[in-house]
Amino acid sequence: MHVIVIGAGAIGVSSAWYLRQAGFDVTVLERRGAPAQEASFGNAGVIAPGYVTPWAAPGMPGKILRTLFAREAPVLFRPAADPAMWRWIARWLRECRLERYRANKLRMQRLAFYSRACLHQLRSELEIDYEQSQGYLQLFRTARDLDLAAPAVALLRENNVPHRLVSAQECRRIEPGLAAGTPLAGGLHLPEDESGNCPMFVRALHRHAEAAGVSFRFETRVEQIRPVQAGKLDIVLSRTGDQDAAPVLSADRVLVAAGADSAALLRPLRLRVPLYPVKGYSVTVMIRDELQAPLGALMDESYKVAMTRMGNRLRVAGTAELGSRRLDLRPAALNTLVKVARDWFPVAGNYQEATQWAGARPMLPDGPPLIGPTAVPGLFLNLGHGSTGWAMSCGSGKIAADQIAASAGACASRGGPGIDMEGLLPDRYGLGPAR
Ligand SMILES: Cc1cc2nc3c(=O)[nH]c(=O)nc-3n(C[C@H](O)[C@H](O)[C@H](O)COP(=O)(O)OP(=O)(O)OC[C@H]3O[C@@H](n4cnc5c(N)ncnc54)[C@H](O)[C@@H]3O)c2cc1C
Repeated sequence: MHVIVIGAGAIGVSSAWYLRQAGFDVTVLERRGAPAQEASFGNAGVIAPGYVTPWAAPGMPGKILRTLFAREAPVLFRPAADPAMWRWIARWLRECRLERYRANKLRMQRLAFYSRACLHQLRSELEIDYEQSQGYLQLFRTARDLDLAAPAVALLRENNVPHRLVSAQECRRIEPGLAAGTPLAGGLHLPEDESGNCPMFVRALHRHAEAAGVSFRFETRVEQIRPVQAGKLDIVLSRTGDQDAAPVLSADRVLVAAGADSAALLRPLRLRVPLYPVKGYSVTVMIRDELQAPLGALMDESYKVAMTRMGNRLRVAGTAELGSRRLDLRPAALNTLVKVARDWFPVAGNYQEATQWAGARPMLPDGPPLIGPTAVPGLFLNLGHGSTGWAMSCGSGKIAADQIAASAGACASRGGPGIDMEGLLPDRYGLGPAR
């Protein structure tokens, strides 16, 4: 049975790996020349199942409004005449209520914990090194930011996630490189959370998948998904020249893992996914003073900027920009990242020489991704992982493969998905198969 996966980011490559393990013939179609070239390329690398959080959270609208016009703001907003953006914002606002936040966060955590177990298993099975580091420290500059974290901390407690609220002094013991002069109200330490280099992992998994028989076709853009008779699907690729007819591939199952651009592929099939690209940025510097650099991963909660150790480099990532579908580098956003990095680790590296990057988080208004079958027979989704797709990638890939195997009656997946899929299936948005 032939399965086509669209997209070779963290989600597509892990799906392809597990699909091959389940015994399928797998082809991955990717418009870029290599795996993990888009959102999966320059992310912060944080894998924090204990703290995966929907951006739709109580207090967030107020916090965003308060900082919107600040010089260094965590959120940049370009008012645009884009109805999809306004619809997304309206839904996002509805999801900020406490009970919605709790439901969405628990769904994300369920997936992220499962995913971390899958990642650890792959890591030891395939001996993949991806510059991993241990521990995650949230920094709160003000008492107000500390208060805003209360619902998240309550959930950690309820769910027995190891964590500790720590004083400023303790923060500096955990991360001795933290600058002494920057105001700090306290921190939240999650010792079991971790970080790692996402594209490094994806490239390694891609090599293993290829060696196991997955066919990767790069520089191959999918134009259209066309259902044909008997549940089969045709995939129409871009024309290669003016005279050529568009090449068409046939599949028994198709898995859409095309990140932020998935919605455009699904729209002609009347599958309207409220996915919106929320742009983010990162800067990366070589570490020139080990003692003044972070040991693990940190998050400045006030600015929503992550600082992560990746081997001999420091990655600083954050900023949410709404209203722009272009991946141009905006100085205001990059300046915020450098300001935060300088506040905490002023001499870790030469920030003038930082490598700069922008990417689009494939964001649904409520937070959890969509993994599973759609109303179009044979068509599956694995998308909408937002700001925590790396942390959820291995588990999402395994679940998608198990679902496809179950739909095909394949024996590799007798047990079905490894977690309760409540709130993670496409029927959350009415996109699932008719019951
Ligand atoms: C600044 C920033 C920081 C982040 N930090 C973290 C973090 O610390 N931890 C974490 O877990 N997550 C983080 N994320 C989120 C994470 O990077 C994403 O959720 C994840 O990479 C999404 O993976 P994906 O495979 O769905 O998308 P992508 O990596 O974007 O992959 C989709 C692929 O599909 C391809 N594609 C699209 N359309 C087509 C088409 N028509 N034909 C062929 N190919 C197509 C694209 O070229 C792309 O390669 C961050 C994101 C950003 C932007």
